[in-house]
Amino acid sequence: MIRDIIFQRNFFRFAHRIFLWHVKYFVRQKVSPLACGFYLTSKCNFQCELCNIWRINPGFQMPEAEARKLINELCKMGLVYFSFSGGEPLIIPYVFDLLAYAKESGIIYTHVVSNGYLMDETMAKRLAYARVSEISFSLDGDEKVHDKNRAMNGAFKKVIEAIEYVKTYAPKTRIVLNTILDPAYPENAIFAIKTAKHMRVKIKVQPVNDHPSFGVRECAVKSRRSLQSDEKQKLLDAIALIQSSPHVINSKPFLENYKAFLFCPENLMFAKDDCIFGYHHIEFFANQIFPCLEGLDWKEGFDVSTSSVEAILESNAYRNKLQELKKCSHCKRNYYICYYEPRLNFPIWNLITSRLRTPKMRDND
Ligand code: SF4
Ligand code: SF4
Repeated sequence: MIRDIIFQRNFFRFAHRIFLWHVKYFVRQKVSPLACGFYLTSKCNFQCELCNIWRINPGFQMPEAEARKLINELCKMGLVYFSFSGGEPLIIPYVFDLLAYAKESGIIYTHVVSNGYLMDETMAKRLAYARVSEISFSLDGDEKVHDKNRAMNGAFKKVIEAIEYVKTYAPKTRIVLNTILDPAYPENAIFAIKTAKHMRVKIKVQPVNDHPSFGVRECAVKSRRSLQSDEKQKLLDAIALIQSSPHVINSKPFLENYKAFLFCPENLMFAKDDCIFGYHHIEFFANQIFPCLEGLDWKEGFDVSTSSVEAILESNAYRNKLQELKKCSHCKRNYYICYYEPRLNFPIWNLITSRLRTPKMRDND
């Protein structure tokens, strides 16, 4: 992302906002979001078994006018990175208008996550019109694995086609595949990584995590099965291969710490430090604001329909929540790329520390 920002000649604007954040945080611990994860809708054209979001009843969808108002406010606060996810954002007819609006309003880097099924020539041209910085497509493994996970025949082929459409009709939009690294089946992530290499796109690896239940059913605890020693070795070999793949965009500290997360969580970097994620990130889910969804168990956010974003961020209730979250340890429970990668790279003192320190590993956990 940083390389793209420099390439797009936005580096000074980017550096200025980052500098201002540090000043505001040091002077009065001001909350000023630089990055925003926005769940536009819970609706999806897929019904993946392990995902509960499409099961939320009643579902949610942020109306266009409301979303524009929020984007406008976030922009005034100096937002750098804005990402739409869901559900499937591409089923929302105004998603590209909102992404275009975000870019026009001064947000430097825009991103949208998709399962790729609806991407076609028209959709890719709209992506180009909205000057979207990055699109991510999920890829779980080979055709059989992917179609089974997504409960949709042809889903794999659609991802491959989607990549080609974006390359052809939105060549300035960066394509990044998302794959899940399941400790018990690392070969699936390796297949996705090889596919990314073959198609000359980037890929990021998300560790498998326990999905939130949203109160609709129990979480399927898939990530906690203990591994046999040969499985452990297979996983470590896979992580080494991932670390050495230049088209994988996870940071080296993130992958290194993933081993600590799996085998020795007490050695996870920054796990004992105060977490200030909510001072530089913000999330929107079910038409509410959250400083960190995972930290708040995906519930009891702040209603955006009655106050401005700024008023909510300045409120005592929000600041008290941030104080509580400083002691949160949910990153030891689930190792999400969207939480731990930012923590390893921001603020500047974490970026430097994470590059200098290596987690200690026990040999026989
Ligand atoms: S495509 Fe994504 S949002 Fe849709 S059901 Fe599957 S995992 Fe959930
Ligand atoms: S520790 Fe992790 S889950 Fe908890 S608030 Fe911080 S980033 Fe969020």
